[in-house]
Amino acid sequence: MSSFFAGIPMAAPIEVFHMNNLYLQETDPKKVNLTIGAYRTEEGKPWVLPVVRTAEAALAADETLNHEYLPVLGYEPFSKEATKLVLGADSPAIKEDRVIGVQCLSGTGSLRAGAEFLARVIGLKTVYYSNPTWGNHDLVFTNAGFTSLNSYTYWDQINRKVDIDNLIKDLDAAPPKSVILLHGCAHNPTGMDPTKDQWKQICEVVKRKNLFTFFDIAYQGFASGDPDADAWAIRYFIEQGVEMVIAQSFAKNFGLYNERVGHLTIVVNDKSVIPSFKSQMQLIIRANWSNPPAHGAKIVAKVLADPALCQQWFDAIKAMSSRIREMRAALRANLEKLGTPGTWEHITQQIGMFSYTGLTTDQVMHLVEKHKVFLLTDGRINLCGLNTKNVEYVAKAFDETVRT
Ligand code: PMP
Repeated sequence: MSSFFAGIPMAAPIEVFHMNNLYLQETDPKKVNLTIGAYRTEEGKPWVLPVVRTAEAALAADETLNHEYLPVLGYEPFSKEATKLVLGADSPAIKEDRVIGVQCLSGTGSLRAGAEFLARVIGLKTVYYSNPTWGNHDLVFTNAGFTSLNSYTYWDQINRKVDIDNLIKDLDAAPPKSVILLHGCAHNPTGMDPTKDQWKQICEVVKRKNLFTFFDIAYQGFASGDPDADAWAIRYFIEQGVEMVIAQSFAKNFGLYNERVGHLTIVVNDKSVIPSFKSQMQLIIRANWSNPPAHGAKIVAKVLADPALCQQWFDAIKAMSSRIREMRAALRANLEKLGTPGTWEHITQQIGMFSYTGLTTDQVMHLVEKHKVFLLTDGRINLCGLNTKNVEYVAKAFDETVRT
């Protein structure tokens, strides 16, 4: 009998999961996994933040909780805390009631809901994201209804820094009302953020050319250990009177990867649009997931609303970001000790969990095949896959590869 499903073309594999699977299938005990963006301890294990365990125990013991549906726009105490976290408790936009928050399915769902709103309701269909960017941006914006997908220059491969002159030139040439997607902190995959001065230049062109700002912040607090420092660019744009949507993820900074805790914050200049915004957003969410899951949002809300728990969260993000910084320093020191050809300061200049090493695709394939060190073909590594036991091995593998 014929099948409706006959002849489905094979879709391209999702690289990060593909490389992770190759790592899992590898039997060589020397193997090292620098692929997927998740935190690992010095022992190479996933980490449940102690404060998350505490909050979960309190939630489990609370007999007043049930499993009724949350409202379509999510759990309000979570929304309040998520908004405060990203904008700052004393944000003028919050005080002026120019902000509305919506709980979404982690960073990806927040991006999707925000993009769908912009495409369907406001009719913005042109987006510019950085080159390179997180591998999912193009897919999310395409599926949300954007029809013109473009990139702006971001990376100077030779000097391994942000190519600010060409970035500004590209934004200057973007048609008015284009959506400009910006990574709030810890740019993925390069690990290199604009300096404050460069952010000011970006903000200036966004305002002058009437571009629309979409911030994606998936690493707040996780990047530097200080959530306020990591939100500097977003707060600066707001100070400059820029309207925006912000997609927040709580996957990395709370270690709540599979709970899908995310939030879309919208900052408007005229608060009278908020009721119609909410009504439209309800339809978008209704058609996507109808209402969000509660568990992770309740954990985050509980922690952020309680000063003692919040302090424990600060301790945890400091511990994670410090371990990553130590691994950056150790990898660089080992490469420099070996005299590995090339310069390696960029490894310690970059921030967040990733480093864009500068290794070519051929060098990556050599690392995978010969040394069983798994990373993405664009040379991106997750520093969390390093620890004091394997960092020397990885540096020697890089060294042999670069010299080959
Ligand atoms: N944006 C960027 C830039 C990311 O790196 C990530 C995580 N890899 C996300 C968004 C969202 O991830 P999640 O949906 O798991 O929160």
